[in-house]
Parts: sequence; C-alpha cells; structure tokens
Amino acid sequence: MDGSGHTLLSVSDARARVLALCAPLPREEAPVDSAVGRALLETVVAARTVPPWDNSAMDGYAVRSVDAAAPGARLTVVATIMAGQTPACRLGPGECARIMTGAPIPEGADAVVMQEKATRAGDAVELLEAVRPRQHVRDLGEDARAGEPLLAAGTVLGVPEAGMLWGQGLTKVPVPRRPKVAVLSTGDELCHFDQPEPGKIVDTNGPSLALAAKRLGAVVTSLGIARDEAEDVLERLRPGLGFDAVITSAGVSVGERDVVKDALLALGVEMSFWRVAIKPGKPLAVGRKGRTVFFGLPGNPTSSLVSFELFVRPALRRMMGHADVEPPRVPGRLDVDAPLSKPAGMVHYVRATAPLRDGALRARPLPSQTSGALQSAALATHLIELPAEGTRFAAGDAVALLPVSWAG
Ligand code: AMP
Ligand code: MG
Repeated sequence: MDGSGHTLLSVSDARARVLALCAPLPREEAPVDSAVGRALLETVVAARTVPPWDNSAMDGYAVRSVDAAAPGARLTVVATIMAGQTPACRLGPGECARIMTGAPIPEGADAVVMQEKATRAGDAVELLEAVRPRQHVRDLGEDARAGEPLLAAGTVLGVPEAGMLWGQGLTKVPVPRRPKVAVLSTGDELCHFDQPEPGKIVDTNGPSLALAAKRLGAVVTSLGIARDEAEDVLERLRPGLGFDAVITSAGVSVGERDVVKDALLALGVEMSFWRVAIKPGKPLAVGRKGRTVFFGLPGNPTSSLVSFELFVRPALRRMMGHADVEPPRVPGRLDVDAPLSKPAGMVHYVRATAPLRDGALRARPLPSQTSGALQSAALATHLIELPAEGTRFAAGDAVALLPVSWAG
C-alpha cells in the first residue's frame, strides 16, 4: 500500500504484466542491416560453405608436416600463393609454397609455418621449428557449412550475424516488423523546444523518449503536447490507436491536473495497473486497447527514463522478437560512506557510477538523486537496484547493477 491506500504492484509483477500485453509483431522480410536488433523468425540454413577452402592464418610457407617433424627441415619453394589466388600447384616431398594470410592451402600441404619461423635464400627455405599437422590452417567451413543451420530462429541479430548473412549472399531475413511508437507529452507548463515561451518549460521528455525508442529500433511519431485537460489528452491520444505502443509522460500521479488516467479510460483503454512499488517512477499507467499498448510514464525527466528502461524497453524488445527481455544486471559492491536506507516493500533504483576496482564494480551513488533533473541520469552509468525486502544497505554489500542503455 502507498500513503493514499493504493496497492502497489511489485516491479517484477509489473514487468510480467507489461510483457503479457506484448507479442512479437507480424513478420516482414527486412534488409539485413535494418534487421539488426530484431530476432530471426526462422532458422537460416547456410547455402554456402564459408570459408570455402582451408586457408592460411599467417603469412609464411605452406608445408607438408611430414617433411618437418623436427626443426631444421630444408624445403624448396615451388609456388607463391597470394590471397585471392587459386593455387595451381600440388606439393610433393621436400616442397613448400610461399603463402599469404587468407590464401587457399595448396594440395598436398597440411600446415603453415609463419615467415618469422623460417629463413629463406632464393628458392631454399629452412624451417626453424617442428611442424604440427594443421598448424596455422583455418578450416574449411569454420563459419558455415552448406546445408547446415547458420543462425537459429530466435537469434537476435548483431553486427557479426549480419556479416554471416551477407557472407551467404542473403540480403533480407524474416524478422518482426519494427514497433510503431507514438509519443505524447502532457502538461500546461510545456512548450516545444524550438518554440520557447515565457513562463514555460521545454518539453524534454517527448523528444528524449522518442529518441530512446528510436535507438531500440522503433519507428516513432510525435503526438505533440497536450494540455492538462482530459479532453485534450483524449483527442491527442486518439490517433495513437493505430500504433503498437503509445508513450505519454506526466499527468499520471495523484495531482488535481493529473488527467492522463481519465483520458485513457475515456479512450477505452483496458488498464492493467497504475502504480508500482518503485522509486523513482511510482506512478506508471499501463493498459491496452486492441493491439496498442499504452504506457503513461511519470513526468519527472529522470523518472520517465528509468520507467522506460525498466518497462518500455523490455516491451519493445519483446515486440521485436527477443526471448530474453529482462534488463541486464551485473554484480557490484556498494561503495558508500554512510549506509543507504529506504522503506521496505519498494525497489529503489539509485543512479550511480560503477568503476572497476580490484576486480569488482564499485557502485557509487551520485550525490544528486533528484528525479526532476536530467543531470543525475546523464552522469549515471548504472542503476543500483536496492531490492524490496531490504531497508539498509552498507558499504561492501553485494548489489545488482543495471547498466543504463540511455548512455551515449
Ligand atoms: P507531473 O507528473 O505532471 O506532476 O510532472 C512532474 C514534473 O515533471 C513537473 O515538474 C513537470 O514540469 C515535469 N515535466 C512533465 N512533463 C515534462 C516534459 N515533457 N519535459 C520535461 N519536464 C516535464
Ligand atoms: Mg503535470
């Protein structure tokens, strides 16, 4: 319960409810580069074997290992093979080939001696080491074998995966389409950043939340700024029904002009929850109408970013097909002069830096934790998660740290 008698939902229950409202979006065949960040809907089977031949991992000499079981073997250079050339020779006993990194291993050879381990005079080469079979040889099919699975369904594509797909000659892959997200700011005090007005404050939440969603891969539309009147919020929210997600900020707590809840209800949104046992970001309205999920985030700039991180980001990732959407956590140790305290039952997210010292991340809370300013978010690299059960956290305590995805 909070002070006003409302039951607060736990962070994990709230996230579970959010995710229950979201599913991977319909399939599209997306160009590989734009599919990065989304999950494959089908297993991709390799059409090509990559690399297509055994090739050299070093600049040096391709040799027959049987000729060089001990240091001091003397061989004759019978060919030179540059990367991009197809070897025409076949090595016989006592023969070797000059070879460059990436060039195909010639027939007969089964190892490479790096040039630093050989001395050469004319066509004669003396090897300074004993040679093991397959040394410095990159295997045919190390990256892909024709007919075998290359990337499993569900794989979230990153840059290396994109390279593997291009290596197969694939230019499009099946992934959920990008989430379409609409963003609405609410508040009588707000003006657009390029239309400053005396006595007003600039709407930073709208463009910041839009940017955060865009960076995740969403296609974002602004619904502008609504006045603190339910009818205005309602009218501006209405076009949001065509989107996968609508994100509003402010007007969602218990103030007299907090009309977002009324507007959502008037729009026919079926609400899932209103409040979460969390600081910052206790007011958080989440619901759905049709296929549109609505997120009413708090107005304080840093609170809205923390809520985005903990609830909207997992939702958008689920829409893009990610199986694991829990915010990533890493272990750290609390580095504080005085213990931190908080009420039981609330999870606190403390903005912090987390330098590595003696092999552990030292979680150092930033001096200012005000949610109204963006400074504390800007300086933070991590959020320290102080769990609901605890009330007092001392120096050296083990804590979970959430790296913030909003950092530059
Ligand atoms: P509220 O949730 O409406 O009580 O707003 C909480 C605080 O956040 C107030 O100080 C607002 O002025 C501020 N705020 C609300 N919306 C925005 C916005 N879009 N950009 C920047 N600050 C905002
Ligand atoms: Mg307000």
